[in-house]
Amino acid sequence: MGCPFIGVRDSLDDHLSKCGYEAIKGFFTQNERHVQELEEQLQQERKDNAVLRETITQLLSRVSAIETKNSMMSNAALNFFFLYS
Ligand SMILES: [Zn+2]
Repeated sequence: MGCPFIGVRDSLDDHLSKCGYEAIKGFFTQNERHVQELEEQLQQERKDNAVLRETITQLLSRVSAIETKNSMMSNAALNFFFLYS
């Protein structure tokens, strides 16, 4: 993106003084930097998100294992109760 000005060097200074692109050049630079910052931030958020997903998967697996163990122990306790009462 930029000024499409084509002309002789002598008229360049005159052109720059009234060029719309020159006036907003700073904005474009700043905007580009801002977009880059946001892209880096997005990438970091995606990494964090992946780590959190992995953690959730591991926790779900552990909860499931604990539930199974808990259920087995409850059954064992009930069997014991009915057998010896
Ligand atoms: Zn221009």
